[in-house]
Amino acid sequence: AKEKGRNDFQIFNSDMKSVSINRLKLENELRKALINEEFVLYYQPQVEIESGRIVGVEALIRWNHPDKGMVMPNHFIPLAEESGLIVPIGEWVLRAACKQNKTWQSEGYTPMPISVNLSMRQFFQHNLKGKISHVLEQTGLDPAYLELEITESMTMDVEHAILSLLELKALGVNVSIDDFGTGYSSLYYLKKFPIDKLKIDRSFVRDIMVDPNDAAIVATIIAMTHHLNLKVIAEGVETEDQLNFLYQNRCNEVQGYWYSPPVNRVELEHMLKNGI
Ligand code: C2E
Ligand code: CA
Ligand code: CA
Ligand code: CA
Repeated sequence: AKEKGRNDFQIFNSDMKSVSINRLKLENELRKALINEEFVLYYQPQVEIESGRIVGVEALIRWNHPDKGMVMPNHFIPLAEESGLIVPIGEWVLRAACKQNKTWQSEGYTPMPISVNLSMRQFFQHNLKGKISHVLEQTGLDPAYLELEITESMTMDVEHAILSLLELKALGVNVSIDDFGTGYSSLYYLKKFPIDKLKIDRSFVRDIMVDPNDAAIVATIIAMTHHLNLKVIAEGVETEDQLNFLYQNRCNEVQGYWYSPPVNRVELEHMLKNGI
């Protein structure tokens, strides 16, 4: 038994080693990616159901890796978050998104907000407000056209969240709660947080046509946003049935594959010009 125990330990140990070597490798590659500007933004349209018009876009990061091609965020954001690299990466995203939105406005596209995902580390960084206002100044983007997405887990420290959100709101930017419904959410605090919008998580939207509980939850969240004077958008809308359900339940905006996956700049501009 003792012998076996030792082997188990060795196997575990060598696994751990290769895992940590891979992590170190990836971390170094991420550092280089920042320097070599290998990150790109994709944009997913947010559509007003009634008019079918694009009323906003969410900026989503991709890593255009020299060998691996386009790497999706779930392959590198978690490590970036753990290692702290998410802070400079997040700043790059923020600057690139603001710059692009300003450029679209100068080119004559109808102004619309761009949404940027904030990571936990960014949200807890002191001087987040200063950094954001600096980027807004540098890029010349009107703060009304920037929306910051935070998740419920970032609001668990209620005091910090309220203070931080008040600071961000004072800049004139919009704040939304991403993946709403999947995390800690006290309706009491929801009322207290100075936020503008809820984004209903894809996991609820996915089953609204098959699971009466999910349908009830989504309908209730939408009704609640109207009572609380919040905006609402449903994520992950993939079918016309889902779209109709949402429209009948007074959800005004949707984001999802039914209209469009995240696309590159050129493809987005095509949709802005020709309709979605
Ligand atoms: P998220 O913020 O919830 O972004 C929405 C994700 O859902 C995107 O995945 C999008 O492609 C996907 N999606 C949208 N509509 C549909 C649909 O109809 N069906 C399905 N199955 N999926 C849909 P993506 O781009 O792979 O991003 C994954 C996550 O990575 C994001 O989830 C976000 O948490 C994180 N992420 C992306 N960009 C950034 C960033 O710049 N900073 C930070 N901190 N996180 C980011
Ligand atoms: Ca998001
Ligand atoms: Ca989301
Ligand atoms: Ca998510």
